[in-house]
Amino acid sequence: MKNCDVIVIGGGPGGYVAAIRCGQLGLITALVDEWLGADGKPALGGTCLNVGCIPSKALLDSSHHYHNLEHLLPAHGISIKGASMDIATMQSRKNKVVQTMNRGVAALLKKNKVEAYTGHGRLQAGNRVAIAIHGGGEEVVAAKNVIIASGSVPTDIPAATVDGRSIVDSAGALAFDEVPKRLGIIGAGVIGLELGSVWNRLGSEVVILEALTDFLAAADQQIAREALKVLTRQGLDIRLGARVTGAKATNKGVSVKYEGKEGAKALEVDRLVVAVGRRANTTDLVDAGLDLAMDNAGRVQVDDRCRTSIDGVYAIGDVVKGPMLAHKASEEGMAVAELIAGHAAHIDHRIVPWVIYTHPEIAWVGDTEQQLKDRGVAYRSGSFPYRALGRAHGSGETDGVVKILADAKNDEILGVHIFGAQASELITEAVTAMVFRASSEDLARTIHAHPSLSEAMHEAALAVDGRAIHI
Ligand code: FAD
Ligand code: NAD
Repeated sequence: MKNCDVIVIGGGPGGYVAAIRCGQLGLITALVDEWLGADGKPALGGTCLNVGCIPSKALLDSSHHYHNLEHLLPAHGISIKGASMDIATMQSRKNKVVQTMNRGVAALLKKNKVEAYTGHGRLQAGNRVAIAIHGGGEEVVAAKNVIIASGSVPTDIPAATVDGRSIVDSAGALAFDEVPKRLGIIGAGVIGLELGSVWNRLGSEVVILEALTDFLAAADQQIAREALKVLTRQGLDIRLGARVTGAKATNKGVSVKYEGKEGAKALEVDRLVVAVGRRANTTDLVDAGLDLAMDNAGRVQVDDRCRTSIDGVYAIGDVVKGPMLAHKASEEGMAVAELIAGHAAHIDHRIVPWVIYTHPEIAWVGDTEQQLKDRGVAYRSGSFPYRALGRAHGSGETDGVVKILADAKNDEILGVHIFGAQASELITEAVTAMVFRASSEDLARTIHAHPSLSEAMHEAALAVDGRAIHI
């Protein structure tokens, strides 16, 4: 039996980052991950790298370039006749991006002296992890500390059983080898909008069925309304208040039934994507009889320092409460490594940015206007539209708005909401400001380069005090 200071179960952005930080801190560290690539080789990086953040953004970029040929470049005087899209090339480029990053994660673990096992890890009594090694054999590793980072898997619904051919989950929708003529998606959440955008830009007629009547219920509703208008204009047919009640593969495609605002409806599509959320992955994670407490959503229960009910066992990322985001998982991973090494560690779960990589992008951090109203917090709001920015006109990216919400009493920034080009980059200014508990006046007095899209942030901060210049 091997002994170490820390063993990490799961090699996604939570687990591998935790292991690297443990290695940096001089802890003897091992990591076990069970993901195999299409070639049957270890594919470290978890959901995010293999079937999540990275491949989806690779396809979003490819499809965005293609879409721009027709929709953006002619206005710049550029016309390319006979442009075509080769899906096989697009997919193999995406696969290469993933494999390059898989190798990068393996190299980083090695550099930090983390011993990586490929197989399934199961927690046993006494903080031991039994590893069923892929290819045969079992190894037991005893550790002073265990970090569970087993991530999440797609939620399934009885109304639409994934068959991997006509009815697929998000991983299936990242791997289509041709553009479906008619694509149905269940769920207008983050995955539905991102993958719907990819295939819509490449020519699919995309219908998204969303059970809720509010669009992007977790986002600021002013921003959500703006986004819905623009995404609809782009061709996404988003049907709100549409709960899917059944889906059946036929020899022509998929017949979908749903309850819409006007009663029972039917929809025929060539392929259907089920994107109704994700759930914690706790499959065969602990030995029977081991008392690892779970919460009522089936996640590993943790306190605010990611400690579980078992001494020396921590859990991070998608398998615990909080938003299912890669950067949240990584942040928890670093904090737990530091706690184990005896350092003070701090995770501010209030300030986790969200980005939805449609075009334009949607990004936010902190409270929405609705949340402030619900809590009875007095606030001031400042908004600034992209159409009033010189840089946005120059690049032809005039859709969008930045909105800043600040405490009416002390002007501290409480939330920032962006719909617009480069929102994923702009939001970091807001995150930094909020980490330092900046006021809107601090941002208003910060010089922003001209011309840049970040001027929308500056002007929105000025607008909180009613003194925006360019509107
Ligand atoms: P995971 O990444 O799920 O990794 C868990 C790993 O543990 C996996 O490799 C799994 O095989 C392994 N494992 C599980 N159990 C065991 C076991 N018992 N033994 C051994 N190995 C085990 N988030 C963002 O922040 N930005 C994005 O742009 C984004 N895009 C996404 C797009 C899609 C299509 C999807 C599906 C998700 C996306 N996410 C995005 C969410 C993001 O992927 C997750 O939040 C993130 O991967 C969570 O990291 P994690 O380390 O907790 O778990
Ligand atoms: P989601 O929770 O974002 O959206 C799922 C949607 O499906 C909800 O709006 C829900 O109301 C709807 N729904 C559920 N059952 C339905 C039914 N029967 N009929 C119609 N609609 C139904 O989940 P997701 O889009 O699957 O994504 C899962 C998670 O992955 C996200 O919450 C996020 O944490 C992560 N993710 C993040 C990014 C990013 O950061 N850019 C990208 C993709 C995924």
